Amino acid sequence: MNYNKSKQAFSEAVNLMPGGVNSPVRAFKSVDMDPIFMERGKGSKIYDIDGNEYIDYVLSWGPLILGHANETVTGALNKAVLNGTSFGAPTELENKMAELVIERVPSIEMVRMVSSGTEATLAALRLARGFTGKNKILKFIGCYHGHSDSLLIKAGSGVATLGLPDSPGVPKGTAENTITVHYNDLDAVKLAFEQFGDDIAGVIVEPVAGNMGVVPPVEGFLEGLREITTKYGALLIFDEVMTGFRVGYNCAQGYFGITPDLTCLGKVIGGGLPVGAFGGRKDIMEHIAPSGPVYQAGTLSGNPLAMTGGYYTLSQLTPESYEYFNHLGDMLEAGLTEVFAKHNVPISINRAGSMIGFFLNEEKVTNFEIASKSDLKLFAAMYKEMANNGVFLPPSQFEGMFLSTEHTEADIKQTIDAFDKALLKVK
Ligand code: PMP
Repeated sequence: MNYNKSKQAFSEAVNLMPGGVNSPVRAFKSVDMDPIFMERGKGSKIYDIDGNEYIDYVLSWGPLILGHANETVTGALNKAVLNGTSFGAPTELENKMAELVIERVPSIEMVRMVSSGTEATLAALRLARGFTGKNKILKFIGCYHGHSDSLLIKAGSGVATLGLPDSPGVPKGTAENTITVHYNDLDAVKLAFEQFGDDIAGVIVEPVAGNMGVVPPVEGFLEGLREITTKYGALLIFDEVMTGFRVGYNCAQGYFGITPDLTCLGKVIGGGLPVGAFGGRKDIMEHIAPSGPVYQAGTLSGNPLAMTGGYYTLSQLTPESYEYFNHLGDMLEAGLTEVFAKHNVPISINRAGSMIGFFLNEEKVTNFEIASKSDLKLFAAMYKEMANNGVFLPPSQFEGMFLSTEHTEADIKQTIDAFDKALLKVK
């Protein structure tokens, strides 16, 4: 494949934007490659500016669960745009969207729309602190919850990808109010509560971690968090920005049967437009302004385009969509297992709904420490070959692959063949 136009565009971009991009992982640094500039997408495929076609497992980092340019979504957006793009006053579509989210997400009795996942988690923390009158937050190492100060600590994802320690610019005082422990380590959570329990406002967790690769909760972990937070009067916050409507029809909380106090959403609920949301128990949500004193606002929150993208995306998902994801996931897992065994390359695979993660290491991955043992050099070499073979994977070992309703069995077969060829070349 040739990437001449991408190379040219990137050489211009580096003088215009930091690192040439508007979000760090798009720089392809951890796979030691120049970024591929994209032009358009349709269904499971994405096309770059050099005209190369790829099967897309990035799907804009999760949102495009119906694939690219879904006709119902683009049709509704085309209509909506002609009526104006933002009013700064309520619309009926916001009611419809809120009803849909409340109906589908078990913990959500009342919801507030925002424009990104970062905003959702930031507001949920403020609410947890405002509601409980406590200061500290407990988060897990390798979980990413957006880039607000108190959450940008041991945060996996792009930070891990770039090998950065915690970001400069986060005040020490803020960091002191964030306690971090290993994912899936309930004993560490108990210890933290024994020590700081009087001042912990909430525990925020990705119910399936998706920012250190895909790492599901071990048996009893989410149940344990529910028990401990209830015991100490802290709020349990599920960050379902990635898992929401990906892990199951009723999100990860429906899938695992654990109801948090607050839930953060993003990605899929915007269907590719900028949307986030947080919601939960009504008595807690009524602390948000203007019902209550905890301030939160947004000029473009709930704007008609974002709500249209989200509403027409969620409306097309059915319980059968998730059966289909499982079917494709089974195929992909079986194919990867076989091909990696054939080439004698160790692999460990984790799955949850339409999220699939593989690590180049045999050990079962249950936390960030184990995820970090993956062979990053081999990943980078394999990544380039996969792109050359027409498969667009997330350009980092610490991100999972996503499936859409548009991916087909033929796509999966082609992907497995591409892994076979890539491994033959790089091993
Ligand atoms: N929480 C989780 C679990 C995420 O995966 C992300 C983004 N990858 C965020 C929060 C932040 O969302 P956004 O990038 O929309 O601000």
